[in-house]
Amino acid sequence: MKFFSKSEDDHLDGITAELRQKIAAAAMPLPVQKIAEQELDLLTRISPASAEYTIGITYIDYLLTLPWNKKTEDNLDIQRAERILDENHYGLNKIKERILEHLAIKVLIKNQKARILIADDEEIARKNLAHILTKEQYDVVAVADGEQAMQALEASEFDVLLTDLRMGKVDGMDLLERTRLKHPDIKVVLVTGYATVPSAIEAMQKGAFHYIAKPYKLDEVRETVKRALEQRTLKPSTKGSVLCFAGPPGTGKTSLGKSIARALNRKFTRIALGGLKDEADIRGHRRTYVGAKPGRVIDELRRVESANPVIMLDELDKIGHDFKGDPASALLEVLDPEQNRAFTDHYLDVPFDLSSVMFILTANVLDTVPAPLRDRMEVIEFRGYTREEKVRIASQFLCAKQIREKGLTRDRVVFTNEAVDRIIQEYTREAGIRNLERRIATICRKIARETLQNSGEPSVTTITPDSVERYLGRKKFHFDVIEEQDRVGVATGLVRTESGGEIIFVEAARMKGTKELIITGSLGDVMRESAQAALSYIRSNAGAFGIADDFFEHHDIHIHVPSGAIQKDGPSAGVTILAALLSLLTNRPARRDVAMTGELTLTGRILPVGGIQDKVLAARRAKVRTMLVPARNRPDVEELSADLRKDVELRLIDTVADVVDAVLLGKLP
Ligand code: ADP
Repeated sequence: MKFFSKSEDDHLDGITAELRQKIAAAAMPLPVQKIAEQELDLLTRISPASAEYTIGITYIDYLLTLPWNKKTEDNLDIQRAERILDENHYGLNKIKERILEHLAIKVLIKNQKARILIADDEEIARKNLAHILTKEQYDVVAVADGEQAMQALEASEFDVLLTDLRMGKVDGMDLLERTRLKHPDIKVVLVTGYATVPSAIEAMQKGAFHYIAKPYKLDEVRETVKRALEQRTLKPSTKGSVLCFAGPPGTGKTSLGKSIARALNRKFTRIALGGLKDEADIRGHRRTYVGAKPGRVIDELRRVESANPVIMLDELDKIGHDFKGDPASALLEVLDPEQNRAFTDHYLDVPFDLSSVMFILTANVLDTVPAPLRDRMEVIEFRGYTREEKVRIASQFLCAKQIREKGLTRDRVVFTNEAVDRIIQEYTREAGIRNLERRIATICRKIARETLQNSGEPSVTTITPDSVERYLGRKKFHFDVIEEQDRVGVATGLVRTESGGEIIFVEAARMKGTKELIITGSLGDVMRESAQAALSYIRSNAGAFGIADDFFEHHDIHIHVPSGAIQKDGPSAGVTILAALLSLLTNRPARRDVAMTGELTLTGRILPVGGIQDKVLAARRAKVRTMLVPARNRPDVEELSADLRKDVELRLIDTVADVVDAVLLGKLP
């Protein structure tokens, strides 16, 4: 059947021929090339006016533009990497060290020569094999019998053993069995001139990796060894193969990721996991309708035109709420070295090797990340910055950057440290430095405008604490705990949220009623349960606290945590809720400048909690004087640097009595 006139036919033939040429020139892996050719053959048989034709052409085009073999050459100079990380980032020493170690291991593994042991009693055969494999850049040791082979295996490490089947004393089959037993990681390949089907089957059953019959082709030997080694490289890297940066926003996770890419000389790209709606966003849509698209991972590779970029997968903890399908398993296919060599995007329908991509995950908190994923990650924790660190980062990096970006020069604009400190204290409230950078940007923008208005007279603008107010208006935050009075029924707590450590105030009120517990303030389930547990603890020990036996019969209790817009959850507010309730029920004011964290059990035990560093930072931001920390968190407290502990007294608490002593004013009634 004819669809088109002759000239149109010629035109279409032209397109097909061009595509055919491109496919041949694209250096795709052989199976992919075959698929592309088959697809093209199919297209020549269907109407160019049909939807399938367009889908087919788009598909082939897509295959053609993927960077199948296109990689940037890694720069593996660790010292240079260290310089680059330092160049853009103040402090973060431990984190930089961990990153450099991670890179160093990658470098070592990459440069590690594979070691091959050859066992053959025939000298010529032995030398031949050794020659072929040495030329492939392997480290080769050749021995004349099975016994020597066993000794060599004991003495040093090998990845592959190539052994003849018939040898004196310990023959090939014997050697295979002993090697499987003592060195199960070594891949054994049997080579023999007496190849018979039964011995081949026996060898495979006993765990040989492969079986080569003499006379062999050189390519067969090379290919077999290569395949055996490919399986080897999968092994050591499975656990902790992916870096995960966890910590509050604005603490340098993204910018360190970019620096890693720069250090390695790789392309960099980001995918926000929080924005993904279903599995197809990761794995792609099947190519059955016109709007089908590949997944984001493949799409990003195409965009950066490289098969080995650094891909930062952001917001790991935001994925999942309304995600259709199982995000963890889709992500594992992408991240897991055992699977990602042959990652199959539904749209592509052919495997793409993702093993050279360096993935870095980021998350604010890790509580919600599924265990199988967490197992694959090497977690590097980022904490918030202290006030002093922020001042230094601003004066060394942020101010200079903003001055430059707004078209100003550093000899004309000077930020004093006192001014920066005022911005930090009065205009931002954060663990990281995102808003600090924004405020500095605002000031620079205003100066840029002034500079133009006063054009002609070059002058130096010095930003002092006073000018901060002129540029940014009245201070935005009042949250010093000492500015407020101590009250009955209000206790100060420290929790960890997505944005780092936060100070909270737990309020408790009582009213006539019938034993009801009302809880408000956007509290999650765990925190609600903490409230219930705290109340039950007090009720069951009412006498000890001097609370009348029948008090609860005739009263309702209301617990509220203001700042309702912030979602709060986790067990670590238990002790704070207890303090607020005890203050209310014993009518003793609670000290506002004592902030606490700790989980409370029904029997009044105090359990350890996470995020101590971030909580200390929050306590300092709010000018808390004393911070109560569960005694079982002692190791975390001992780990804190002197710099971090400055200005706040840390006190370990073991029992409810410790809390009462530290927080409640006045005597028991
Ligand atoms: P995150 O990804 O953790 O939310 P970013 O990497 O986006 O944070 O950091 C926010 C800004 O702060 C960036 O401009 C970054 O360069 C800067 N920054 C963060 N930490 C440091 C640091 N230690 N030294 C210099 N600049 C930093």
